[in-house]
Amino acid sequence: MRLSNHEYNQAFADKIHGSFMNISMQPIGNISTPYKEKFGIPRQPGLVKNAAGKITFFEAFNDPNYLRGIEQFSHLWLLFYFHQTADKGHSPLVRPPRLGGNQKLGIFATRSTFRPNSIGMSVVEFGAVSYQNKQLCLTVKGIDLLDGTPILDIKPYVPYADNISQAIGGMAQHSPELMSVTFTKLAIEQLKKLEQHYPKLEALIREVLGQDPRPAYHKGSRTDKIYGIALYDLNIQWQIVGQQNMVLAIV
Ligand code: SAM
Repeated sequence: MRLSNHEYNQAFADKIHGSFMNISMQPIGNISTPYKEKFGIPRQPGLVKNAAGKITFFEAFNDPNYLRGIEQFSHLWLLFYFHQTADKGHSPLVRPPRLGGNQKLGIFATRSTFRPNSIGMSVVEFGAVSYQNKQLCLTVKGIDLLDGTPILDIKPYVPYADNISQAIGGMAQHSPELMSVTFTKLAIEQLKKLEQHYPKLEALIREVLGQDPRPAYHKGSRTDKIYGIALYDLNIQWQIVGQQNMVLAIV
């Protein structure tokens, strides 16, 4: 018996409300990125333009037909799973770092990772499609995703619908202010050697540290703490000196 649309919706609603129907999803691939830990990842995409990620498609989606025509779009939406925080659960209120961690907002009024269903979304720049040794990959730029993040879906960014020029961004109306970044002599020497293996490493470090990744409660207080950020397999050691972030060494 064929159900009418209304009957179908009713049956679906009954299922969801009655028994908390589970929707299971199959990730289409996962992304490798320079960000090996959460500390230092920008809070949104596009802030660190030199952060590139490579999506490797899983077997069931390892067919170039899935990406046919995608190169005509300059930007893409990635829908992904916050796999590192998914088991931490969620509560209705969170403290957005943007508000200094002192004020609470409803989870649905934020882009926090600690949310029901743990779904993230980021607009990223299209890079390239490759199909080598029968493995389909897609490179994207400007990412804010942890290495190994499962990708649930990819959709083209459609400017006429997605770009709302008069939109009001609440507490996040403007991108965060940038800090200037300097390098010690030692760090400059290390960079020179490393850039053969890690192209654009200096630009990446400048953009990442320019975001001032310190926890909100460290800002405003004077500290000589040495921080470390993991990019690729490197540990970038830095310290606040005056109003600047100074890279001390790249280990
Ligand atoms: N643009 C996405 C969104 O709005 O849904 C992510 C915003 S969220 C505030 C960005 C933060 O998510 C990053 O700074 C990083 O700490 C965290 N993150 C990125 N990938 C993650 C993952 N796979 N699991 C858990 N946290 C992740």
